[in-house]
Amino acid sequence: MCVSRTSFKGAIYVCTFFTVFFITSCNNNSNTPAKLPEEHTVKVNTPDFNADVAYGDIAKQVSFGPRVPGTPAQKLCAAWMQEELKKVCDTIYIQNVHVTAGDGKDLPCINLIGVINPKASKRILLLTHWDSRPWADMDVADQDKPILAADDAGSGVAVLLEVARNIKEYKLSPTLGIDILLEDVEDYGKNEWKEDSYCLGTQYWAHHPHVANYKADFGILLDMVGAANAQFPLEGYSTEYASDVQQKVWSAANSAGYSSYFNYNRGGYITDDHVSVNRIINIPTIDIINLPGNPQSHEFAPHWHTHQDNMSIIDKNTLKAVGQTLLQTIYETAQPAPTP
Ligand SMILES: [Zn+2]
Repeated sequence: MCVSRTSFKGAIYVCTFFTVFFITSCNNNSNTPAKLPEEHTVKVNTPDFNADVAYGDIAKQVSFGPRVPGTPAQKLCAAWMQEELKKVCDTIYIQNVHVTAGDGKDLPCINLIGVINPKASKRILLLTHWDSRPWADMDVADQDKPILAADDAGSGVAVLLEVARNIKEYKLSPTLGIDILLEDVEDYGKNEWKEDSYCLGTQYWAHHPHVANYKADFGILLDMVGAANAQFPLEGYSTEYASDVQQKVWSAANSAGYSSYFNYNRGGYITDDHVSVNRIINIPTIDIINLPGNPQSHEFAPHWHTHQDNMSIIDKNTLKAVGQTLLQTIYETAQPAPTP
């Protein structure tokens, strides 16, 4: 059983002892699926997620350069995302604010929220970060230079924008609302600062949601969902806070035909944006995050926080698996409940 709460999204393990302990204690579990995949397939008509378009949207973000807070690329990319959301959402909210980094530096932070079916009381929150890490601290070269973040930012944004377009084209029931939160300043954290030096944009939003008393039935966070051979196990905090949601999404992945990506192994506990959403605003929220289990890169893929996080590691098949799974989840949720 994993008792460690050692958390490592964007960071490295808190201490070496826990690293060894965590890996040792979790490896036993990782061979044992937490729950076997559902046998049945839920039939629901969904739009067809276009991975070519999503791939192009990652390339577009990368073309701005690293989207580091306080740089021209931050403003350019925010303006582009705003235009894209405007085309497909009913309402757009922009939070143009300042947050304080772990070293005390003042950082501009731009959160964008696109709302579909604003009047519906049943709602799903979809979120991802869009900023690039300012350092390549897991690389062997140019560690002080920012990364392009094709996967660790670009992929999540691209999938959510294409899902929003699909919903626009393929009428969603007006009884289900979708809120797309593209949050900034997730990856400006350092292990030697403090755990909550990460996810600053989401922390701001969770304390100051775009509408008063905001509520969603559940939330789904995407992080690093574009690399070849991605593996999405059952991340620990997601299981702890939102096990039902996690099972629902993994079951949807099975129904959509992507169980080879969404496995039922227990993943580590990742301090990511979903933790703030669960703890601060109490929306049960899960994390879909690539954890192929490489001990050398702290369970993440080898390109994590290196300059290899560029277009060369992006695979349309992974984008398709995640996008189609989200659409399956959304259109299943929109279906009227079966009468007993
Ligand atoms: Zn990161």
